[in-house]
Amino acid sequence: MPDTPARERTSIALRAARHRTNLRRLWLRPFAALARWLDTGIDDRAMADEPHDDRIDWLRVVPFLGMHLACLLVFWVGVSPVAIAAAIVLYAVRMFAITGFYHRYFSHRTFRTSRPVQFVFALIGASSVQRGPLWWAAHHRNHHRHADTERDVHSPEVHGFWWSHVGWFLTRSGFRTDWQRIRDLARFPELRWLDRFDTLVPIALATALFALGALLERVAPQLGTSAGQMLVWGFFVSTVALFHATVTINSLAHRFGRRRFETRDQSRNNLWLALLTFGEGWHNNHHFFPGSARQGFRWWEIDLTYYGLRLMAALRLVHHLKPVPDWVAAHARAR
Ligand SMILES: [Zn+2]
Ligand SMILES: [Zn+2]
Repeated sequence: MPDTPARERTSIALRAARHRTNLRRLWLRPFAALARWLDTGIDDRAMADEPHDDRIDWLRVVPFLGMHLACLLVFWVGVSPVAIAAAIVLYAVRMFAITGFYHRYFSHRTFRTSRPVQFVFALIGASSVQRGPLWWAAHHRNHHRHADTERDVHSPEVHGFWWSHVGWFLTRSGFRTDWQRIRDLARFPELRWLDRFDTLVPIALATALFALGALLERVAPQLGTSAGQMLVWGFFVSTVALFHATVTINSLAHRFGRRRFETRDQSRNNLWLALLTFGEGWHNNHHFFPGSARQGFRWWEIDLTYYGLRLMAALRLVHHLKPVPDWVAAHARAR
């Protein structure tokens, strides 16, 4: 048998090496995904020069889907008043942190506060599984800049309901933090840390709830709760409800409701969404004038987050709440 020519031998060796690398990559993919769940800095570094990629990153999405499936465990763990109370309290506190701080403070700078208060509410916001404050604010600033155009990743007008509700943040590009948009916030190392390790705070909350449930089961059995109940109701059910309520502002508040102001986008004012999201449903008001801490421009436009911020201002925890200017208020009264 004649000898295989040297060139052919090299090509076979190269193909075998490539095959081994591909196999190794395939094998390592779940581990790479696991690393990226824990440290989002890996994505930001790896994708710095990558072009926009709108494909859903399925491996990365597993925890998000898992959180939804975990809600079904309510049929297994049962229910008790204290577990329902934990779910409601955690919904309310975290909704306030998302609307008051992730949105009105970090994204729009509509009031001022001290660095410790800034951190505490960034921490509570981070427990909502809506990523870190820098990622959230960067996406939201992009939304206002390009609202309801091709470059608005969660416009229901351009991309449809489901994409605007749950699609846009599951893509490879959606996972990244746009550092250009949040230079003012990126100078705080503690916020960069929260953004980079954004799964740690939710995991800590879930663990604490599990431990609290186990403790209550032992010291107060008359409450009828358990570790599993506190985890499933207090963390999974509450977080999933909080998540879907928050993203209605992308998917529904640009579709259903009244347009008081002729803004360039399709934003609407919607009382039901305002109640669900503590004031964010006055979304057409907000797109017309995003610079005020208050989003309900008339006295009857219920804005729970604003009342909460007023209370915090009375306690001297926040200050310089930017008001609705007179010309905007007059405009709102006329329509
Ligand atoms: Zn909007
Ligand atoms: Zn906004």
